[in-house]
Amino acid sequence: MLSSKEIIAKTEQYGTNNYHPKDVVIVKGEGALVSDPEGKTYFDMLSAYSALNFGHCHPEIVAAAKEQLEKLTLTSRAFHNAVLCDFCMQLAKLTGKQKVLPMNSGAEAVETAIKTARRWGALVKGVPNGKQEIIVCENNFHGRTVTIISMSTDENARVGYGPYTPGFKVIKYGDADALADAITPDTVAFLVEPIQGEAGIIVPPKGYLKKVREICTRNNILFIADEVQTGFARTGKMFACMHEEVIPDVYVMGKALGGGIMPVSAISANDDILSIFTPGSHGSTFGGNPLAAAVGLKAIELLVRDDYPKMAAEKGAYFIQKLREIDNPEIIDIRGKGLLIGVEFSGPASEYVDKLIQSGVLAKETHERTIRFAPPVVITYPQMEEALEIICKVLTK
Ligand SMILES: *Cc1c(COP(=O)(O)O)cnc(C)c1O
Repeated sequence: MLSSKEIIAKTEQYGTNNYHPKDVVIVKGEGALVSDPEGKTYFDMLSAYSALNFGHCHPEIVAAAKEQLEKLTLTSRAFHNAVLCDFCMQLAKLTGKQKVLPMNSGAEAVETAIKTARRWGALVKGVPNGKQEIIVCENNFHGRTVTIISMSTDENARVGYGPYTPGFKVIKYGDADALADAITPDTVAFLVEPIQGEAGIIVPPKGYLKKVREICTRNNILFIADEVQTGFARTGKMFACMHEEVIPDVYVMGKALGGGIMPVSAISANDDILSIFTPGSHGSTFGGNPLAAAVGLKAIELLVRDDYPKMAAEKGAYFIQKLREIDNPEIIDIRGKGLLIGVEFSGPASEYVDKLIQSGVLAKETHERTIRFAPPVVITYPQMEEALEIICKVLTK
């Protein structure tokens, strides 16, 4: 096998420079542990941005994938397959909605939600087509397509990609009054992350989502929750909206839905909303393919059977309590829910991150000053203790 150095050099030579990965090559993974070509092992505290809630190579999900892999992998939606029906039924049940629309990546699910809102606005709410407006928040992260970066406030994600898709209004995150003030007769939806992940694990003020729900209902606009990162137990509830007992009109899901194996995304909503789609009005060649459906179905089964929300809540409480014992005046905030935890420093966090990685803990800074700790939900207590010992040592000053 090539060495880490050689692999990195080759990747940099032939791969486009649209990412700046840490100098770690992962060649094997099991649960919360990964190893590099030289045999050094690490604790994975990033979990592929929450796509690895089940850990690396969960044996039951791998088995479900293998079984389907040998039977049937792709039909396109020109024909039926025998797995999609169960996937849709179980995901509808899990979200308490009547219907599911499967896609592949998180960005595609967000695009699907945007199309849902616009078409619902035109056909049901009666907003003239072309006038539909969607409200989003500052520092949002919803993906990388041209339309999605058009509503981003991250200049680095936007610059040079014009012309931008119109029809979005940006307001302050966590401010329900700002939402009420921004609504016009042409507003069709509010698209929001229940906890902003990429912005640095920003938890909105208590009661925010409840107020958002009321405002959306009162003004007849769709409340679209982007739970791509927060969904499927990551924050200690099945969906982060559940922390405030709030039910959005549309769930946007991805990442962990693919069981850490392949891209699987979807939106779910009730029939009065999703019935705006008719044959030919939206779709995806790979969306709902039997392999993805088998993997997603197994992921949903495990979430419920093994009570992942409870696991994440209990392990998260332990994790954050240990982090709070760290003595370092440069730490200005520790926040999060469940196993989605951010530690914010008064200055750049990259030096700490480099030291963590050298010491065997994979983590990454977001927005320069915040380190995200989001281990797989399956991490064991002994593994957590060992990882926390390293983390506490490195972060103490
Ligand atoms: C990661 C993410 C997306 C985009 O998902 P991709 O699979 O990378 O396209 C969308 N929304 C949120 C909140 C995310 O964290």
